[in-house]
Amino acid sequence: MINIQNNILAVENKIAQAALAAQREDKIQLLAVSKTKPVSLIKEAFKQGLSHFGENYVQESVEKIQQVKLDPEFDKPICWYFIGPLQSNKTRPVAENFDWVQSVDRLKIAQRLNQQRPEGMPNLNICLQINISEEETKSGTTLSQVMELASQVQQLSRLKLRGIMAIPQKSDNPKVVEQQFLTLHQIFTQLQQQYPDIDTLSMGMSGDLESAIKCGSTMVRIGTDIFGAR
Ligand SMILES: *Cc1c(COP(=O)(O)O)cnc(C)c1O
Repeated sequence: MINIQNNILAVENKIAQAALAAQREDKIQLLAVSKTKPVSLIKEAFKQGLSHFGENYVQESVEKIQQVKLDPEFDKPICWYFIGPLQSNKTRPVAENFDWVQSVDRLKIAQRLNQQRPEGMPNLNICLQINISEEETKSGTTLSQVMELASQVQQLSRLKLRGIMAIPQKSDNPKVVEQQFLTLHQIFTQLQQQYPDIDTLSMGMSGDLESAIKCGSTMVRIGTDIFGAR
């Protein structure tokens, strides 16, 4: 049996230790990645005080969000983040159900989310996903295109540009991963100079959250270490 309560305490402790080691006092948001996991486990995490959840698959996540909405035991607001690859023919349910999308990697996706965001809902928070290792198989915009994409997204009135997200290339050498995190932090700083509202550098997962926090991450996305292996 997996013990969500212990897992969350351990992750929160790791985040606190890493922040202390990096002499950081700013907030580091924990995003619990619940993809493939049932609402019953999301509920356990919610009861431990978590309220930010990340999902990757459109159909699965919309079903879970609807289930949560109808369940009176979820008695405080939840913030939902779409963090998976997004095809342009699937943007509508994402625009209608999520608070954030962190995997925007091209203008067409941003334009559709902007058009499809329902009137009366708050603006949809956006992170641009960056393909930091520039591997062809990975999603994300390239380093050379990120500033242009940011300026285009910034002009879409139903979206709110909040920052960037990336998944670094795995490596046995921690320095290789750290170098990618440092580059991401540079881009983040550069964007912030141009757009002062930008506040989110989403990097760090179960395997590398300490290094990400050392390099300035403001949001870590943790699946396995909270909910167990997928
Ligand atoms: C699955 C996923 C995570 C969580 O990864 P873990 O290694 O299980 O912590 C984080 N970010 C993204 C974009 C993911 O798809």
